[in-house]
Amino acid sequence: MLRNKIINLTVRDVRFPTSLEQHGSDAMHTDPDYSVAYVVIETTNAELKGYGLTFTVGKGTEIVVCAVKALSSLVVGRTLEEIVSNFRGFYRLLSSDGQMRWIGPEKGVIQLATAAILNAVWDLWARAEGKPLWKLLVDMDPAQLIRCIDFRYITDALTEQEALDILIKAREGNQTREEQMLREGYPAYTTSCAWLGYTDQQLTQLCSDALAQGWTKFKVKVGADIQDDIRRCGLIRKMIGPNNILMVDANQRWDVAEAVAWVTSLAEFRPLWIEEPTCPDDILGHAFISKALAPIGIGVATGEQCHNRVMFKQFLQASALQFVQIDSCRVGSVNENLAIVLMAAKFNVPVCPHAGGVGLCELVQHLILFDYIAVSASLHNRMCEYVDHLHEHFRSPTNIRNACYMPPTDPGFSCEMLEESVQKHQFPDGEVWKNIRKQDK
Ligand SMILES: [Mg+2]
Repeated sequence: MLRNKIINLTVRDVRFPTSLEQHGSDAMHTDPDYSVAYVVIETTNAELKGYGLTFTVGKGTEIVVCAVKALSSLVVGRTLEEIVSNFRGFYRLLSSDGQMRWIGPEKGVIQLATAAILNAVWDLWARAEGKPLWKLLVDMDPAQLIRCIDFRYITDALTEQEALDILIKAREGNQTREEQMLREGYPAYTTSCAWLGYTDQQLTQLCSDALAQGWTKFKVKVGADIQDDIRRCGLIRKMIGPNNILMVDANQRWDVAEAVAWVTSLAEFRPLWIEEPTCPDDILGHAFISKALAPIGIGVATGEQCHNRVMFKQFLQASALQFVQIDSCRVGSVNENLAIVLMAAKFNVPVCPHAGGVGLCELVQHLILFDYIAVSASLHNRMCEYVDHLHEHFRSPTNIRNACYMPPTDPGFSCEMLEESVQKHQFPDGEVWKNIRKQDK
């Protein structure tokens, strides 16, 4: 593997003007331009590159790009073999650099940058092995998987031995589950029908299209206006009927007591969960809301802005969530998500990944396939988010069949973008942005 020495790391600011049509709008992010800090790792083997990204919603992507550049000297010059033979050590090197950890640690911009780089390293590894990432993980010896995880700060909730036991126990029936996934795919839900900025007419049309395509699980953005929410949830519940599943997402809009009151007034529409009811850092607030909503059968879901494994640990310890929403770009890549799905398994809480944006569906599908085949062995109350935007910019886009994610087959982590798309959308000088600036003048 000596020829797989990393010789260069580039990072680019790539933005899509989604705010022009209100795609992705919610109660707190009213005009997102879905964006990525896009990383490419080059090796001495010209045939082998690693592609990774982290997701942002527009402004500030240049800061993430800057943080990736600051970390790149820790990556360039190492061989892939050197990294993966001590992946735990390499993770800690990136997340705990003696000087740079001050601007984290393991949170915020530096954590997003770590995710972009490590996603590219995992992509590189999977490509070197000729496997899609989920398959690399599923085939990996449990002891080796454990050696990719930094257990620092979580051993009071999950020890290495417990994690190993979970993986070994889940070996039973894993072959059957893998075959099932290849045949049927992993169940998904759609968020594409009901962004907050959409009109009722748009919502009705998109919902009826989705029903016709076989979707059975739907998420509605709420939180800006209670009367609007009651009307929109009523509209969707009426269209999807009593048996399909509805979830609501407030994107951190409320204070704790307000969340309980607001969600209680939506109870008649029987949402399975309320997502991000309040500040994403407020673990005890989420615990209070969980307890208050339990009698009316509504769970709390969160995770897309939960910045590391320690926070997930506390959410689980405090019974502050009933659905763990892992995100492929918020925490320290696969390494940290392995820790999170194993903790969720220990606490017997279902993992329902956050996705959408740009590239998040492509990435996280690998992690949830791994979770089902090699960790949780359950589909009960589990599903992966899907948003139908921007997949055309990827070399290996998601493949949805009958409202399920079909397992990727191309080697890697599925986040290589088409070079033409990257160039066109590069900020601020790509063709798309030059044209928008011209129109603004
Ligand atoms: Mg959300």
